[in-house]
Amino acid sequence: MSVLIYAESAEGKLKKVALEIASYAKKVAESLGTTVTAVTVNAGDVSELGKYGVDKVLKVSNDKLNTFNAKAYADVIKQAAQKEGAKVVILSSSTDSSYAAPIVAVGLEAGFASNVVALPESTSPFVVKRNAFSNKAFNQTELTTEVKVIAVAKNSFGLSEASGAAVAEDFTPTLNDADFGLVVENVDKVSGKVTIADADIVVSGGRGLKGPENWKMLEDLADVLGAALACSKPVSDLGWRSHEEHVGQTGKPVASNLYIAVGISGAIQHIAGVNSSKVKVAINTDPEAPFFKVADYGIVGDAFQVVPQLVEKLKEF
Ligand code: FAD
Repeated sequence: MSVLIYAESAEGKLKKVALEIASYAKKVAESLGTTVTAVTVNAGDVSELGKYGVDKVLKVSNDKLNTFNAKAYADVIKQAAQKEGAKVVILSSSTDSSYAAPIVAVGLEAGFASNVVALPESTSPFVVKRNAFSNKAFNQTELTTEVKVIAVAKNSFGLSEASGAAVAEDFTPTLNDADFGLVVENVDKVSGKVTIADADIVVSGGRGLKGPENWKMLEDLADVLGAALACSKPVSDLGWRSHEEHVGQTGKPVASNLYIAVGISGAIQHIAGVNSSKVKVAINTDPEAPFFKVADYGIVGDAFQVVPQLVEKLKEF
């Protein structure tokens, strides 16, 4: 019996979220008196997982899995869990894992808790703390099934290094045509840029920027911070920016360490998707803008003056 994690990777490299999940799983395994096994898919070098508490890695290599496919990936994770006799299966709350996790839970006849924000409050009974209502409330959920699947919210648990090395072994799950019933025909990738899902810092622009021609200053700010760019819904609806960048309730969720909102009013539907970010900064001419109510830091000022000054100042560091 071990704790199993799905350690995500992209283009042959482990993602940071894989190390976060490993750190989390290590603590869960300690409280259960067991070890951590990770399953990876076409992940290349997986040795780093050992530094974050993983004892064993089941490495799956299969060209058919180069593109994420929820059903097939869920089957891989399910078979890895069965092979290890895992009683707790832990995934992240990334877009891919959010698709796969419920399918894994159904396959294992397991209870499932998403949006888990802390280590289990107890493991017997197994009780986890989850966020709810767009992060406005928490709830305690008890999982009573023999096998439990949990999806941990991004950035709710930091990296914590452990001494040790993971033993890697090849793992070949049985996949059949039904696993590939859902065909991904096209994948649009934003190349060379930090993606919103992986970013520690997100710089986001709203209608206050007046038009797409004014995004250069936000791009400069994002470059100097190594940040991903995002925008409010109207900005993408107006075609100023791609829908890839739309964040909020109906867009991508953001759970970065730092979220900088420039010329964004802070409508409830926007805040709902970005509220999990640790530190929120608002830059807005209107001191009554709702964003200031949830912001940790606020600058009441004209973005066209504030942002270029910020960029110049940050370049000094
Ligand atoms: P505005 O509300 O127009 O705000 C612009 C802000 O810029 C103002 O606060 C203004 O003071 C400020 N400003 C103006 N000039 C400057 C300047 N020079 N410098 C600095 N500040 C300046 N919205 C989302 O973002 N994401 C969603 O997922 C989303 N989902 C929705 C779902 C539903 C069902 C509905 C009904 C709405 C949804 N919306 C969503 C829309 C949301 O309600 C708001 O309309 C939207 O977030 C407003 O975008 P904004 O802040 O960019 O624009």
